[in-house]
Amino acid sequence: MDRRRCNRDGILTCACCNRHARETRDHLFFGCDFSINCWRKIGLDWTSLGPDPPFMTYIRYSKNCMHKDLYKEIFLSAAWEFWKCRNDLIFNNVTSTVQAWLLKFKVSLRNQSSPLTRSSARSIRWGWISSGF
Ligand SMILES: [Zn+2]
Repeated sequence: MDRRRCNRDGILTCACCNRHARETRDHLFFGCDFSINCWRKIGLDWTSLGPDPPFMTYIRYSKNCMHKDLYKEIFLSAAWEFWKCRNDLIFNNVTSTVQAWLLKFKVSLRNQSSPLTRSSARSIRWGWISSGF
């Protein structure tokens, strides 16, 4: 996952946001401009956690902010779709948008979730989820 893209000066840059950052798990999934904007789209804003919190802090924060029956599936589907967007960019030269990610995320979440989870999702009035279930 620590794929490095070096320019002529040997400076590491993230393929997704073009910032000078190593492509670590924490950068790609939580610190990258693209993922930050995607998380915000589904109601998660990491800025209140401070700089570079431990990984489990993100999980606990998600659990506190989201429906307890859905947070794992939401978190994993979101991360999976970030990873796929990153791979599309690197291997297929396809640049993703937050809106495109959101559509793919909804499909992923719908396909991954159980009937019980879908029932719970329908009862929640989240704008981003209601149209996908
Ligand atoms: Zn980045």
